[in-house]
Amino acid sequence: MEPSSITPPISDFVQPFQIEGHGVRGRLVRLDGVASEIIAKHAYPEPVAHLLTEMMALAAVLAATLKYEGVFTLQAKGNGAVRVLVADVTSGGAVRGYAQFDKDAVAAIPAASANLMRLTGGGYLAFTVDQGEHAERYQGIVELEGQSLVDCIHHYFQQSEQLQAAFKLAIENHPGGWRAGAIMLQRLPSQGGHHRPEGGGWTPDGSKPHDWQGGEGSSDIDGEEAEDAWRRAVVLMASAQDKELLGPETGINDLLYRLFHEDGVRVFTGHALKAQCRCSRHRVENVLRSLGKEELDDLAVDGALIVTCEFCNSEYRFARSDVKPPVD
Ligand SMILES: [Zn+2]
Repeated sequence: MEPSSITPPISDFVQPFQIEGHGVRGRLVRLDGVASEIIAKHAYPEPVAHLLTEMMALAAVLAATLKYEGVFTLQAKGNGAVRVLVADVTSGGAVRGYAQFDKDAVAAIPAASANLMRLTGGGYLAFTVDQGEHAERYQGIVELEGQSLVDCIHHYFQQSEQLQAAFKLAIENHPGGWRAGAIMLQRLPSQGGHHRPEGGGWTPDGSKPHDWQGGEGSSDIDGEEAEDAWRRAVVLMASAQDKELLGPETGINDLLYRLFHEDGVRVFTGHALKAQCRCSRHRVENVLRSLGKEELDDLAVDGALIVTCEFCNSEYRFARSDVKPPVD
């Protein structure tokens, strides 16, 4: 990471930072146009749109702490009203997401009790890093539990013991769409090492991190001093108001300064996020070609195959006669 003197945009951005002398690194993520554009493609009920916005913000903040070339995916499988929630973020900053749910079952849940467990009925949350055919694939899994996805992810880090991490998140449904603001703090290992793995990195499957965003990092404080510094950083982060986290009145750097200036906060070069799907006619055609003749015949309606991308709602139409599976 390079120290940055550039003022970041108000939103749809990932801002890395470090609290000087504390052995604490962080990421601040804001979504606004990106979340609004993705949600607007679907007629999701409010609690589902809320969960998906939370999922996208968390995927963006977690992806920003990993060193990868490819796709980072957060996927929840529920046993109740909400069956699937997916958000993925490419190393280039392209974000997408979708939800599958039972409309009547979601409508039957009173707004006041529409938390993670009521909406999903439990299930699991998977973290995946896909770096293409020739690279390792990492996957970690944690049970869905707690009031919210952020609780669930916090629990994942507590039990994995890979990384000490803390989160603060806010979601807002405003007249122009959906906004999210999220901060993730991670504690760097002390110099000379202790129980945390070197580099302070993490991988979704708990394997040794080969490298991570920001390179090698360690804290030059230790023991009780480091413990106090970590606790102080978490308390300062927790003091962020929802309005400040979400913007747009408070700039990203203004918020980081407001929270951490007494200890000294340094910001690094961040990157923009955009709403962008990776589907294409070519990819859909390849998937169809991988199906058997019978399956294709079953899918065909009046001689046509119609495939709708669950992420972006784009519709792809093919004549059944144009899609020929490979001959055995
Ligand atoms: Zn798509």
